[in-house]
Amino acid sequence: MRESDFFDEKDVRKPTSLTCPFCGRTYQYEVRWRQRLKKKRLPGGASSEDRRRFSKAQSYLVRIDDMVGCQHGGCRRRFEIASFQTVVFLSESEPVSDATRKQPARTPARRNRNRNHRHRRG
Ligand SMILES: [Zn+2]
Repeated sequence: MRESDFFDEKDVRKPTSLTCPFCGRTYQYEVRWRQRLKKKRLPGGASSEDRRRFSKAQSYLVRIDDMVGCQHGGCRRRFEIASFQTVVFLSESEPVSDATRKQPARTPARRNRNRNHRHRRG
């Protein structure tokens, strides 16, 4: 069983503010990501090894775009989305939301506690 069997895959666009390193202007760019949401359950025919891998699998986003073209008319240069992470793991309770923000994993902020923490079961 391949890793892709564990996920529902879909391409998404996330509006992201990026600053052009050439002209220094900030615009909103539609950055493309591939979203892999972990399936609710394993497809049939899974081996115990598959089950072990599946239990460790986590929903995530992988950035597709590496470069964007500056939207400023007098610039138009392409620049790399360097400051921006390429993979974002999603917690199961809140897929997709805030994926464009910085990695929440280690921030001491407690904001996430206010979000719903209910575990959905299919
Ligand atoms: Zn520019």
